[in-house]
Amino acid sequence: MKYLFKNAKVLTMNSQMEILDDCDVLVENDCIKCVGNIGPEDRDKARAIDCTGKLLMPGFINGHTHVPMSILRNYADDMELQTWLFKYIFPVEERLTGEDVFFSSLLGIMEMLATGTTCFIDMYFFMDDIARAVEMSGIRAHLSRGMTCNEKGPDFSKVESLNESISFFKNWNGEANGRITGAFAPHAIYTCSPEFIKAVRDAAEKLGAPIHVHLDETLTEHENSLKDYNKTPTKHLYDLGLFDLKTIAAHCVWITDEDISLLKEKNVTIAHNPKSNLKLASGIAPIPEALSKGVNVILGTDGVASNNNLSMFEEISLAALIQKGAKQDPLLVSAKEAIRMATVNGSKALGRDDLGEVAPGKKADLILIDLDKPHFLPLHNPVSALAYCAQGVRRLSYYGKRPDTLRKR
Ligand SMILES: [Zn+2]
Repeated sequence: MKYLFKNAKVLTMNSQMEILDDCDVLVENDCIKCVGNIGPEDRDKARAIDCTGKLLMPGFINGHTHVPMSILRNYADDMELQTWLFKYIFPVEERLTGEDVFFSSLLGIMEMLATGTTCFIDMYFFMDDIARAVEMSGIRAHLSRGMTCNEKGPDFSKVESLNESISFFKNWNGEANGRITGAFAPHAIYTCSPEFIKAVRDAAEKLGAPIHVHLDETLTEHENSLKDYNKTPTKHLYDLGLFDLKTIAAHCVWITDEDISLLKEKNVTIAHNPKSNLKLASGIAPIPEALSKGVNVILGTDGVASNNNLSMFEEISLAALIQKGAKQDPLLVSAKEAIRMATVNGSKALGRDDLGEVAPGKKADLILIDLDKPHFLPLHNPVSALAYCAQGVRRLSYYGKRPDTLRKR
């Protein structure tokens, strides 16, 4: 199947962030075949989509979420993280069924697709049900079964979540035409003993699976780590050898300069979740410092229970704004950097080079943004417009209504 996107304004996301006006893009099956200069034969055979007045760009990669938490939207707000997690979230999660997870995943996926996300990086449970929702919807996802165990071992062969992780990875990695990839997810250092983290690491290494972990999210986690292990959470996981495997570490709010060097040394990707960190008052991650040391940073919404939506437009905007405000420096985290975190950097985090860019040979995970909206006009700078003006699916109520309907009121 061939599609011809005609007359689009194309934000390529190449290293120069080049923008091509009135550009045609040819897609064949799930790949981009040609950008500009499309031959007559290809034109004739393709289904044409008129993109006049629209921006064509790579879809966003949501770098850290828990998609079934859509069912907990607005359920527990305005409280401290440990109370929120242990008194409200964990007790409800214990009662969720696979069917709940399947349908709430579909809900979250609908919201993500409607707000420009074409790939998400997730950690939860009932993973088969999430994978079925991914398979059905057409979205791309990097999925991992979150694991918790504070036992000392040495035998972890009966830990259900570890066994589920192993079978999930074997059953689903590379499935849905390659749209599903798998990872191993020790939840966090406060829910996993050092011995268990080592066992998870060894099991992941055996299967060639990457790692997804929560890291240094709150000051409490940071201080407890210093008390229990006499080292920071980052140094703790570094010493356990977890970062020898390809790792995405979510949050990293309280990491030190030394931690940033360790993350850089091991090529660990930071998944920055600005809105969740603000809402739970966890703090503001030192992202400019990480970027200046060359650490790969991606953006995530975290779960809906701590956000309370899955719109990457908000994360892009907040990633650029909070550093400027917190450090009184308007030059920190530019619109360009924030959009790169939501696209190409996500591809790098997944260890691939075929996402996050509009170029021949890349996956056709593309989105179209209608620029003919009041909040985009005048369009002096499309990159700034994306970072600071875009609104996801939110619309004023009169949008789309015909003038005669309005007059009849
Ligand atoms: Zn999380």
